Amino acid sequence: MNQRGGNLSTKSLGQHFLTDRGIIRRILNASELDLKDHVVEIGPGRGHLTDAIAERVGSLIAVEIDQNLVRDLNERFIGQTNVTIFSGDAREVDFSLLTNTSKPYKLVANLPYYAAMPIIRRFLGSSHRPSMMVIMVQREVAHQMVAQPGDMGLVSVAIQLYGRPKIIAHVSPRSFRPQPKVTSTIVRIDPFDSPVVDFDREENFFRIVKAGFSAPRKQLRNSLKNGLNIESDIVDKWLVKSEIDPIRRAQTLTLDEWARMYKIFYEMV
Ligand code: SAM
Repeated sequence: MNQRGGNLSTKSLGQHFLTDRGIIRRILNASELDLKDHVVEIGPGRGHLTDAIAERVGSLIAVEIDQNLVRDLNERFIGQTNVTIFSGDAREVDFSLLTNTSKPYKLVANLPYYAAMPIIRRFLGSSHRPSMMVIMVQREVAHQMVAQPGDMGLVSVAIQLYGRPKIIAHVSPRSFRPQPKVTSTIVRIDPFDSPVVDFDREENFFRIVKAGFSAPRKQLRNSLKNGLNIESDIVDKWLVKSEIDPIRRAQTLTLDEWARMYKIFYEMV
């Protein structure tokens, strides 16, 4: 265990700090911040975005994994009573320590790319999900988030199940120090009150979706048969009952179609 975060090096923690004031402004504008807001920020880093958010909101809790940065941030925000720096891993942190479960909050973050999806999914899948998320992710991931039927993938389903994602702006590597190798994108997600699919357990739904995408070039009947290890005639019966042509491919399905397949699958088994 080192002073940063477990065994991870600075480079592997995705430490690319935003230095472009124009981009910070775009993140703030998209977040529609208000003095009544409570904000959770993931990965405050050197505190540039944190500083700008803190000026505009009632309270801010920022979760940082790198203990050296946590120490510097605590010094930087020492007399600023609306800012709390929380030392920890956003993939594991206990939500009740970050938010008051009876009050709404927004999540704003320039995310470490290696952990962006686990962090986003954790917040979206929680029982106290944010009222809005404005996040910076890798451009390719942003495109997957907003993809429509025809180009959908696991990431599109995982995000659109919980909310409506929208691309705000693409950001050049030149806006960061050190510069990343890839282009970044600011995405805003407006979560729904409840997920589009009415499931008992999220993992039961994703068992089906993952099987569907296990061989994306194959027809659904084959990818589901292999992914779930069930007989072809049962898969065909299931798809016909769900009103889905078995020769379609997973990327063409809408969320409503996945929902139908999920419901009928668990009625059949
Ligand atoms: N917000 C800062 C900015 O915009 O300049 C820094 C963003 S940098 C892309 C990502 C930050 O997340 C780094 O400070 C890194 O140490 C931190 N980080 C990495 N993994 C984390 C994790 N699992 N939980 C919390 N913070 C993490």
